[in-house]
Amino acid sequence: MSLGPELRELYQEFILDHGKNPRNKRALAHPTSSGEGYNPLCGDRITLQVQVDDGVITDIGFQGSGCAISTAAASTMTEAVKGKSVDEALALFKRFHAVVTGEEAADLDSLGKLAVFAGVSEFPMRVKCATLSWHTLENALQGGGDVATTE
Ligand code: ZN
Repeated sequence: MSLGPELRELYQEFILDHGKNPRNKRALAHPTSSGEGYNPLCGDRITLQVQVDDGVITDIGFQGSGCAISTAAASTMTEAVKGKSVDEALALFKRFHAVVTGEEAADLDSLGKLAVFAGVSEFPMRVKCATLSWHTLENALQGGGDVATTE
């Protein structure tokens, strides 16, 4: 899919904003699960901590270092899934993944702010940066242990 100039501009502003001022970039006091992620193509690394109470993600935080896109994606991901059930968060990842890989000209409205990442579908190398934090989340929610990689 191709993006109109408006979405493209929004994407650039958004990545800069979240890349510079990431939300939820902190350690949690009481994480119930955690995961590590690594994107060897770009060198992005993330440590994710999640607090799940009664099947709902009540708190989430990430640490690590990576490019602006991976940082912005992690920042947005934490905002998007906080307060959602584990099932809702995993379903959201499926939709997000379909959009950033360009598999689906999905219903961008249903993704809210995440829709700006549709921009990365034009840059296959960047898809891994955008999805690293989500793969790590999926891993953490499904038991953790392994390091999630984008390969
Ligand atoms: Zn990256």
